[in-house]
Amino acid sequence: MIVILSKGISSHDKEMVRAFLKERGFGIREQILGDDEVIGASGKGSVDIQELTLLPGVERVAATSKPYELASRETKTEDTIVTVGDPASGTAVKIGGSRITIIAGPCAVESREQIFETAAQVRESGAVLLRGGAYKPRTSPYAFQGLGMQGLEYMKAAGEAQGMPIVTEVVSSELAVQMKDLTDMFQIGARNMQNFELLKKVGALGKPVLLKRGPSATIEEWLLSAEYLLASGTRNVVLCERGIRTFETYTRNTLDISAIPVVKRLSHLPVIVDPSHAVGIRAMVSSAGLAAVAAGADGLTVEVHLHPDSALSDGPQSLYPSQFERLMRDIEALAPVVGKELLRTPRPQTGSASAAGAPVGAAKGVRADGGGTQAAGEPPAAFSGESGAFAEQALMRAFGEDAPRLSCPSFAAMFDAVLDGSAGFGVVPVENSLAGSIHENYDLFLRYPDITVVGELKLRIVHCLIAWESAGLDSIIEVRSHSQGFAQCQDFLKKYDWVLEPYYNTAAAVASLLKEPEEHKSKVAAIAGEAAAIAHGLKVLKAGIETNPLNYTRFVIIARKNEDGRAPVPPSLGQGKPNKASLVFSVPDKPGALFSCLKIMSDRGINLSKLESRPIQGKPWQYQFYVDLNLPETEEDFSAVLEALKAETEDFYFLGVYRGSL
Ligand code: PEP
Ligand code: MN
Repeated sequence: MIVILSKGISSHDKEMVRAFLKERGFGIREQILGDDEVIGASGKGSVDIQELTLLPGVERVAATSKPYELASRETKTEDTIVTVGDPASGTAVKIGGSRITIIAGPCAVESREQIFETAAQVRESGAVLLRGGAYKPRTSPYAFQGLGMQGLEYMKAAGEAQGMPIVTEVVSSELAVQMKDLTDMFQIGARNMQNFELLKKVGALGKPVLLKRGPSATIEEWLLSAEYLLASGTRNVVLCERGIRTFETYTRNTLDISAIPVVKRLSHLPVIVDPSHAVGIRAMVSSAGLAAVAAGADGLTVEVHLHPDSALSDGPQSLYPSQFERLMRDIEALAPVVGKELLRTPRPQTGSASAAGAPVGAAKGVRADGGGTQAAGEPPAAFSGESGAFAEQALMRAFGEDAPRLSCPSFAAMFDAVLDGSAGFGVVPVENSLAGSIHENYDLFLRYPDITVVGELKLRIVHCLIAWESAGLDSIIEVRSHSQGFAQCQDFLKKYDWVLEPYYNTAAAVASLLKEPEEHKSKVAAIAGEAAAIAHGLKVLKAGIETNPLNYTRFVIIARKNEDGRAPVPPSLGQGKPNKASLVFSVPDKPGALFSCLKIMSDRGINLSKLESRPIQGKPWQYQFYVDLNLPETEEDFSAVLEALKAETEDFYFLGVYRGSL
């Protein structure tokens, strides 16, 4: 049983709770769980839960039905998000929540050059944490046992050179203390999952721990090992499924895919998957990794080697860097399908977008933070809509769940907030894959020349019909949503004869239901995302009502240009050089006008990812073109293209250069 104490409980009240439990025969331990202070009570005592709950300073009592208490979702319902690395260093990385975190590196550190070069390669492909064993628990005592402390020092230096926190295996309690300051996260290997003395010692050091599942451990045994770590003092435990021993011998182990959803239901801890050790055969590692992401894993740890044939351990399962890069691209494409975002490492040295003609430049004053959260004291990021809006979900992906945010009553109000500095960034939906471009926002870009696009994000949109508990499909008369919500759910709406009432935002439509008088509650509903139902305490009557499940909205992140025409890039979107630009222009009314613009781009080998024409308001039968293009190799090429386009077009607007998402 876990007693969750109220924030700011007095020492007197805490003592009363302790005494109450002890008097009734419980052994007690005090712990921190997430943001909560808790008292764990175990033993043969018996208690009236009602009475305990009523004690001053008791927030709630979780009487778990599981032998693991601190690890159980019954005790803590929200996902734990583990931070690895020092947040003050600007390179800390988060695991859990709506992000996919990728750990990569060699099985073992073999030399300084090897770990430095591998770190650079996996970082380039998008890994955010560096793995590598300095102490290797090998089945044979004659196999390579690792470089020991020397190897760990090389790895720490390689991680620092790439701005990547590191994770490495600890094999004994004595070594744990020596390794503490050299690693950001301890790995407990599969063979040591039930080495309880090691778990207690490592847990007490307070550092994040990656806990591998033992080759023959049940899920319950695995969670009980996590409980050892949590009970010993660390709050940051990440579970790692790495395959279990079954009768099948083709693969090294059998990847227990079903363990992922099971553990996510039983525990609040993040779960990642190690497809390398699970499968043991290079050609199958990526498929298993993708399956794990599809099943809901919070990340992967993958072995990568520059020359697997000469690797000192686990060569046959180590990916070549090129295979790892391909896997990363596939994960990035898959992420929105499972409602997640691939966590990227910031790259401050190239993390700045610039205005027309100077696509790449050095960041100025941009704080790097791999967790994707903003620095304290920085202005919030803005979105248009109410709590639970899709734009708020996109904002949380870009800036982190805890990022300070400003909700604006309209898109224009959001542009104003970014312009006057009350928001550092804004999150603007520009296009939906079913309903098309959001012209209102393109028009705003044209009205706010000091605002530029600095990043891009795609969010899968799953619409729900949301209503009061008393409502049913038969009782509803009126449905409220943003016009995009109606457009994206056309096929579903066709089946009913409902009055459709447009709102400025889907979540605002949900919020409006709260003001409904009692007698109308069963007659109204709204179309929005599940997050809006949760935010406003209403029921999802039907989920997944969008016409086609391949329904994505593309958001762009906006910022205000500095005097030099450049703009800051949100750290979490800052990886890699900008590779995309967006433009809006109109052409003179003469033969070949559009053709000559397209030829300018074609002659330079520029690929267009979007070309759309749209009527110009107030000028019947005249059109504007929206263009997204992939940037050419050099800044000079791009500047030349822009100059040539400006000469050929009538109105020309440059919306920004940024790193596109897949
Ligand atoms: C490793 O990660 O290199 C390792 C030895 O893994 P496991 O403990 O899962 O076998
Ligand atoms: Mn290995």
